[in-house]
Amino acid sequence: MTSTLDYRTIIDAVAQRRNISPNQLAALLSTNDTEAVKILFEAAHAEANRVYGNKVFMRGLIEISNHCKKDCLYCGIRRSQVGVRRYRLTSEEILDCCEQGYALGFRTFVLQGGEDGWFDDDRMCDIVSEIRRAYPSCAITLSLGERPRESYQRLFDAGANRYLLRHETADPQHYALLHPAEMSFDHRQQCLRDLWEIGFQVGCGFMVGSPFQTVQTLYEDLQLIRRLRPEMVGIGPFIPASGTPFAECPAGSVDTTLRLLAIIRLLHPVVLLPATTALGTLHPEGRELGILAGANVVMPNLSPRSCRSLYSIYDNKLSSGSEAAETASDIRCRLSELGADAAPDRGDPALAR
Ligand code: SAH
Repeated sequence: MTSTLDYRTIIDAVAQRRNISPNQLAALLSTNDTEAVKILFEAAHAEANRVYGNKVFMRGLIEISNHCKKDCLYCGIRRSQVGVRRYRLTSEEILDCCEQGYALGFRTFVLQGGEDGWFDDDRMCDIVSEIRRAYPSCAITLSLGERPRESYQRLFDAGANRYLLRHETADPQHYALLHPAEMSFDHRQQCLRDLWEIGFQVGCGFMVGSPFQTVQTLYEDLQLIRRLRPEMVGIGPFIPASGTPFAECPAGSVDTTLRLLAIIRLLHPVVLLPATTALGTLHPEGRELGILAGANVVMPNLSPRSCRSLYSIYDNKLSSGSEAAETASDIRCRLSELGADAAPDRGDPALAR
């Protein structure tokens, strides 16, 4: 029998050593001791406050295309998914989204999409330079999947500052179960290294409760985060997408996601850690609970209304209500109820590399 006091000792040790053992991870993920879990969340929330004050950073998410040449087994917009109405935004539409976002107070724009060949380097660099020119004070984040190093370099030179590329799993065998044979674990890792070397602020991350995930693969994910020391980490529960090979798999757990957010905050205190849309999709207060467990970023959707429901990487993805960026003031209210302040700045990492 492990007592609450024992869990407190584990949590203190994790926070002090900024490391975790497989047994400690298993204990923190499996315990039913609600008092211990509360201690974990409070420790992580306090750590986020120590590093970033009570600020929560808002990023405006623009989903630029749901065309994708990849075939990730879990994803609702994978290449072989039938019945998806495919769209891509024009440069004008993307710039309109930024204009609206800027007016709403956003100072980071996140351009995310499937791997769509139409957005080649010339087109993408034009868009990035335009945004850079129009909003010199804003950060530009890209999340466009795997590209050659030269491509990342050109995008960086055009003015992009940050790149989100979830590693998906740090275990090569697990990676092979989530992706078709044509995709490579090593290549994904290489992309992350390239981005880091070029000078991007880098975000890695993974889904919680993805098929075949174990405590051991999660342990490896955490060790990868400790090694890479990324500026950002994106995690959210796996949510099955109908029509995909994993349509019948159970969704990941909100509670486990919250515990992992807290552990990541303790292992890597300066990380920028979003409370993701997937968390908000599975629980009406998922994002708020995420903030209270150590997250400090929210990413409301700035995409044109008509496209939001089409970027359906999983079923029932939130795309209206508090998820929509128009309700930025609403989000500010909800955050202030938690004692958090929606920061009107770029929200750069607290510690430069
Ligand atoms: N094409 C880009 C962006 C992918 S979408 C890229 O490859 O990076 C962003 C993230 O959504 C993915 O990295 C994946 O971790 C997550 N995702 C995809 N399908 C999901 C699902 N069914 N449930 C939860 N998250 C999912």
